[in-house]
Amino acid sequence: MKISCELIKDLLPLYYDDVCSNESRTTVEEHLLECDTCKKYLDSMNSDLIQTNAEKAEEQAKSNILKGIKKKLLRKNVMISAISVICAIAVLLGGFSLIFHYQIPIPYDNGLVSVKMGNTGMLDVSFNGDDYYCSHQWSTTIEKDGKKQQVVYIYYTDTIWTKHFSKPQNDKEYKYSINNSTLFDHGNGDGLIEVKKDISAVYYLAYSDIAQMSLEELLKISSKAVLLWEK
Ligand SMILES: [Zn+2]
Repeated sequence: MKISCELIKDLLPLYYDDVCSNESRTTVEEHLLECDTCKKYLDSMNSDLIQTNAEKAEEQAKSNILKGIKKKLLRKNVMISAISVICAIAVLLGGFSLIFHYQIPIPYDNGLVSVKMGNTGMLDVSFNGDDYYCSHQWSTTIEKDGKKQQVVYIYYTDTIWTKHFSKPQNDKEYKYSINNSTLFDHGNGDGLIEVKKDISAVYYLAYSDIAQMSLEELLKISSKAVLLWEK
């Protein structure tokens, strides 16, 4: 039976994919032995496939490279975003801390602080300014006219916030009492002492680094202190 090339061409894809019946296979193979046209057609299918596979592989490679670049870019973007967020938080925290916690000693101004002996035998200290952030007190023993005296140095600090923006708060104590309170002992590093002795004098001395000063340094700058109260 002579089979037409058209019929073989119809069968060739099935033959090529190896899904035809054994009978069709035999028919195709017999025809191919005799027909160059169909053989060439089969060869062209092979090379088409090879080409398609090569193209596919190339496309895959390209897309892999693109994916890689995208991934890298994404990773880079995520990293840049994370660093930006961390920087922004750091700046915010730094700014927050600077505005609300950085202490600026308030220099003495007439009437800023008043100290008087109260009825209970304690020294009442009142702050008469607008607002402040923190009050500081140190006590130490000095020698004056050959006599040992217990003196107290105090000062107040502002922050940028309390200096420029905040108003006096109703619930904030602008008064405190010394005599029976606990104060930093300047003669003894940063230890605390109970001040139950007679206090001879209270001075205002606005230096933010008093806590780090040696007693000698403190006594050296104490000539700049403003006398608030004396027995
Ligand atoms: Zn043929």
